[in-house]
Amino acid sequence: MKRLAFFPTPYPDEILYSVLCRYHMRCGIPSANQTSRALWGNGYGKKLYLPDGIENIAAQLPQGAGLTAEYFVRECTIFPLLKPFLKQDKCDELRDAMSNGNINTYNIVSFPRVFTLQRRYLAYCTECVEHDTEVYGEPYWHRLHQLPGVYICPVHGVPTIESSFAYSELHREYYPLPPASGSFVSYAPDIAEKMLDFALDTAWLMENGNDLLCFDNTGELYDKWLRLKGYRDHWGKTSNKKLALDIISYYGREFLTLLDAYSSGSCIWIKRMIQQRESFRHPLHHLLLLRFLAGSAEAFFMEPQRELPGYLPFGAPPYPCRNYLCEYHLQDVIEQIELRRAHGTPYATFICPYCGFAYNRKGKLPKEMHYSGHVCIVRYGWKWEAAVTELLIAGESPYRIARRFHCDVRTILTFGVDRGLLPPDRLIGQNQYITRVVSKPKEKQDSNDKRALYRKRWLDAIGENHAITRNELRLLESAAHKWLHTHDHDWLEQNSPTPKNKSPKWANSDDEYLKTVEEAVKQIRDSPGIPRRVSISSIGRNASIVKPHTRLTSDFMPKTKAFVAANVETLEQWQKRKIWWVIQQMRERGEIITVYKVRHAARIEDKERKLDGFILECIENSLKETASGV
Ligand SMILES: [Zn+2]
Ligand SMILES: [Zn+2]
Repeated sequence: MKRLAFFPTPYPDEILYSVLCRYHMRCGIPSANQTSRALWGNGYGKKLYLPDGIENIAAQLPQGAGLTAEYFVRECTIFPLLKPFLKQDKCDELRDAMSNGNINTYNIVSFPRVFTLQRRYLAYCTECVEHDTEVYGEPYWHRLHQLPGVYICPVHGVPTIESSFAYSELHREYYPLPPASGSFVSYAPDIAEKMLDFALDTAWLMENGNDLLCFDNTGELYDKWLRLKGYRDHWGKTSNKKLALDIISYYGREFLTLLDAYSSGSCIWIKRMIQQRESFRHPLHHLLLLRFLAGSAEAFFMEPQRELPGYLPFGAPPYPCRNYLCEYHLQDVIEQIELRRAHGTPYATFICPYCGFAYNRKGKLPKEMHYSGHVCIVRYGWKWEAAVTELLIAGESPYRIARRFHCDVRTILTFGVDRGLLPPDRLIGQNQYITRVVSKPKEKQDSNDKRALYRKRWLDAIGENHAITRNELRLLESAAHKWLHTHDHDWLEQNSPTPKNKSPKWANSDDEYLKTVEEAVKQIRDSPGIPRRVSISSIGRNASIVKPHTRLTSDFMPKTKAFVAANVETLEQWQKRKIWWVIQQMRERGEIITVYKVRHAARIEDKERKLDGFILECIENSLKETASGV
């Protein structure tokens, strides 16, 4: 194995490209091409953020120096920034590609262009340059200064400077950090503050990302934080819209726009991130979300797991028994309830452990409202049943029992009859022992109200975001889209941005279509025998065009459309043409021509005899022509 004569030791936070620049300089090899050949085995360099095949270099370094491919991946690439946001298998795949070679590193993170979104030039911090020169004797390119969204040096808090070296050039040339060049940008104080926070979070992640777990864990943390902050409910439903709005007001539009995280007037990435948890998202978006949720990247990952507040739509347990007969009446004795949900409303059944009395309540109900108000009784319980049975056997009047036990007399009567304690004729009406609560059918919200509401929301969303695409709009206003798509389709079509790729392939062949269609029309008209009708269907058949009713009337093919429109026949036009043709035939054969014969021969069903006048006129004209010897 060939060994490199020497190799520079990477400085802290030095990006691999920078180490190679220093190697190139130190070697004194005249061309970058030669250096690349020596390092990688071919004349090109590698991608800045995610170089692949680092083992090529590591294998040429003396063992024992600790400069393994693994070391370079961890310390000299942006791998730690991605790791917490990649699923385990992707993470392993990426690590392997970077070590052993697979040029699809960007595809592995399923975001090929992710890091070319904002930054185009290598950047540096003047104070870092000064510090590095003093400590190490030379400046170098830091990883941190190249990362998306990092415009301020997290160490020195000053804006970084963009050099004139474009990322797109880096695989062809090795550019060591020059003493000073490029332009200095300054930011408004509030923006600068947010930028520094963002840079600090990124720095924290670069330092700790290698030791964090993969997305399988991060996803759970998201779930926890979203619930903790009230953006995800007990049942796992996330309020995407509220989250997006709150993030926008937290960071401000200006800052989000600077980070390219505010497109089409909203933060569409948030919804995508929350909904499609399996696919990789831009680390910049992750950083924005986790600071918003937890206050900082460090807090997000490291803060000891706080207990989630319980979901208590009925206030904190225990809850009271509501049985008048129970010695625990109105005392808090019910510790456990079973929560259910229907149409977003929580329901629960409360069962007293001392008397078996069970009742339902629904909706969010503060604790203090449990001691009064109507409850829906599910079961009276053994204590109640025993007491009523005893009294009925003793001959007590059901009315008095009902008064004493605070219930409807019909309840007592039904119970008595059910148990054979009272004769069946005591029943009043059809009441049952337990009144079945017939839930009122939920009144359908007037669909006109909905229509107006959703139309307005749809138009508002378009109004606010002029450049929005149909897909983005669908994500942003999914409820409105869903409803309108089902109930108001035509309106939705007319009031949506035109899809970018709407024009189909065949739309480019207007001239070609026109030619075939002209030919087809001619064929139909010239076909022997009784005239065939020129219609869209017959043209389609003759010219072998699929879906003729769509294509031949499409605005994508204006010439064809115009020609077809001018040539198709109405039923009447066709009938007249047939009539004229039949008369000509009869004339040629020297037959006596009558209206009936013509109508019959032309196979025209004309019960109202609308065409008789026309037929007669044609016959007369034909006779005139014969007479004049035409
Ligand atoms: Zn600095
Ligand atoms: Zn009780």
